Amino acid sequence: MASIFSRIIAGEIPSYKVAENDKFYAFLDINPMAKGHTLVVPKQETDYIFDLDDDLLAEMTLFSKKVVQAIEKAIPCKRVGVMVIGLEVPHAHIHLIPIQKETDLILTNPRVKLSSDEFEKIAEAIRGNVK
Ligand code: AMP
Repeated sequence: MASIFSRIIAGEIPSYKVAENDKFYAFLDINPMAKGHTLVVPKQETDYIFDLDDDLLAEMTLFSKKVVQAIEKAIPCKRVGVMVIGLEVPHAHIHLIPIQKETDLILTNPRVKLSSDEFEKIAEAIRGNVK
């Protein structure tokens, strides 16, 4: 069965899309650690990110860089923190999280609650800055 992220990429499950090309899809995390928390996912369904081919992993990093630059323009933050967890969804992904301080990356922090309207506005703001 396809992963939840493959179903999102296929458009079977809605998402707040931020960027897409032929190999990758970026969208807002539904349970964000901060406004603008984005996931970058390869369209090829592979569980563990470090099982991806070297070329695809390198391209994923460069695609993530574009998304980071757009997040930085759209969301006030000091840095965009990068995390790989992968314990919940077995489809490789990179978390991009706007942060002000180190402790913003503590996984057990309370999550930000947003309305669908707020999610859509954030996604639109980031999307508008993707080069
Ligand atoms: P992990 O696999 O541990 O890196 O965590 C998976 C991440 O995917 C979590 O931060 C979830 O909030 C996020 N997530 C799970 N389902 C969805 C979904 N349908 N849309 C957006 N984000 C999701």
